[in-house]
Amino acid sequence: MTIDQIWNAVLGELELSISKANFTTWFRNTAIGSYQNGEVTIYVPNTFTKAWFEKKFHSNILHTLENVTNEPVKRILYKVENVRNVVLRIEPVQDTEFTPSNIQEVSTVYPSSQQSFGLNPKYHFGAFIVGKGNELAHAACQAAANNPGVSYNPLFIYGGVGLGKTHLLQAVGHAILGKDTNKKVLYVTCEAFTNDFIRSVRTGKAKEFKDRYRTVDALLIDDIQFITGKEGTQEEFFHTFNALHQFNKQVVLTSDRPPKAIPALESRLQSRFEWGLTVDVSSPDYETRVAILRAKCQEKNCSFFSNEMLQQIATLVQSNIRELEGALNKIIAYHELKNTRPTVDTIRSLLSSVESVSFRKSVTPKQVILTVSKFYDLAIEEILGKSREKRLALPRQIIMFIMREELKSSYPAIGQEIGGRDHTTAMHAYSKILAEIENDLKLKQDLEMIRQRLYVQSV
Ligand code: ADP
Ligand code: MG
Repeated sequence: MTIDQIWNAVLGELELSISKANFTTWFRNTAIGSYQNGEVTIYVPNTFTKAWFEKKFHSNILHTLENVTNEPVKRILYKVENVRNVVLRIEPVQDTEFTPSNIQEVSTVYPSSQQSFGLNPKYHFGAFIVGKGNELAHAACQAAANNPGVSYNPLFIYGGVGLGKTHLLQAVGHAILGKDTNKKVLYVTCEAFTNDFIRSVRTGKAKEFKDRYRTVDALLIDDIQFITGKEGTQEEFFHTFNALHQFNKQVVLTSDRPPKAIPALESRLQSRFEWGLTVDVSSPDYETRVAILRAKCQEKNCSFFSNEMLQQIATLVQSNIRELEGALNKIIAYHELKNTRPTVDTIRSLLSSVESVSFRKSVTPKQVILTVSKFYDLAIEEILGKSREKRLALPRQIIMFIMREELKSSYPAIGQEIGGRDHTTAMHAYSKILAEIENDLKLKQDLEMIRQRLYVQSV
C-alpha cells in the first residue's frame, strides 16, 4: 500500500463512524505526509482543524490507522499545510507537536449598551452547556468569534428546533462585541432581513439597506431556511454576502436543515452557504440534559431540586432544550402556586401529561402527513397519490414509519390513511425505514427533525 492508499482507507473507515457533516467538514482537505516506523504525519488545512483532531479525533484516527496497516502507531503529528500545495511541497505554515487541547475559551462580558444590536443578553457562551450534540458547533462558533472572517466564512449551523442555534448565533455576537465594542455586529432573523429588504425597495431606500447590511463586521442571520422561494431576497442576500465575504467580514447563518435540503434555493446561494464550515447540532444526550437542568436551576436560584429529580426530568423530556426548560418552568410554577416542594412523584405526574400523553394523543395521522410533506416540500396529493417515484416513495415510507412508531397505529389503519394502501405496504415501509436508519445518518437526522416539528406543534 502507498501512504495515500493507507490514508484513503482510513478515511473510508472514518466516514462510516461519524456524521456526514462532520466528515466533510473535517476530513475534506486532509492528506497523509509521511508514515515511517510507526510515526505518521497528517496534513490538515488550518490550526482549528489541527486542534480539533488532537482533541477529538486523535484516538479514532490512531486506532483506524493501526487497523488499516496492522502495525502499531507510535506517534501522530498533525501539520497545518494547505493540502492543495502538498504536491508542490511548499513550506508548511506551522509545525508544532501534539498538544492535548488548544481551543481557547472566550470570556464574555455583556456590555449593556449593546442591546440595540438585537442580541438577547441571556444568550452568551458562558450560559451555554457543551455536550456531545453541540460541541462541534460550539467550537466553531468560538473560532468564528475569536477570529471573525478568518476561520470559517460563512459558518452555517443547522439542526432541529430548540437545540441552541439561536443561542450560539447570538453568543458569537456577544463575544465579538465583548472583545471590541467598536465592532459592528448585526443579528437579524431571516424574516426581518426579508421585510427590511422589501420595505427598502418599496420606499426607494435601497441605499440605506445596503449601508446597513454591507458595512458590518459580522452579519448573523437566524433561520435562513425561510429565504426559500423568495427570489428577490435571495438575490439581495447573494450580493450582501459577496460584499461582506470579499472584505473578510464574518457571516454566520442558522437553519433547520443543511443547505442542500433547503427547497427552492438558488444553487449559487447553496454553494455560498457551503463555502465555509457547515456544522450540525443534534439532540442533547442524557448527561447534557442533566447538566443543562442544573445550570438553569442555578440561573433561577432554585435549590430545591435533588439530583434524582433532575435526572427524572432529563429522562422524561428528551426531545430538545427548549422543552427541557419549559418542563422545568412548569414544575417550578406548579409548586409555587401550590406552595409545596416538588417530589419525584409530582414531577413524574406533571411531565407525563406534557410528554408522552399529550404527544401521542394530540398528534393526528393528518399532522404527520402534513409535517412530512412540508418537510420534503411535496404536495399532499402527491404523497397520497399512486406514483411510485423515488422522491415520493421515501417520504411516504417515513410517514408510515412515524405513524407506527409514534402513534402506535395499526398497519391496516396506516395503509388506509396513506391513500388507501394495503397493510403489507405499511409493514414493509416500517421495517425498511427501521433498517435504514441504522446506516443512513441523513435519514436519521431527517427523522429527528420531523419528530421535533411534530413535538412543537403538539405542545
Ligand atoms: P433553536 O434556535 O435551535 O431553536 P434556541 O437557541 O432558541 O434553539 O434554544 C432554546 C432554548 O434552550 C434557549 O432558551 C436556550 O438558551 C436554551 N439552550 C439551548 N441550548 C443550550 C445549551 N447548550 N445550554 C444552555 N441552554 C441552552
Ligand atoms: Mg432559533
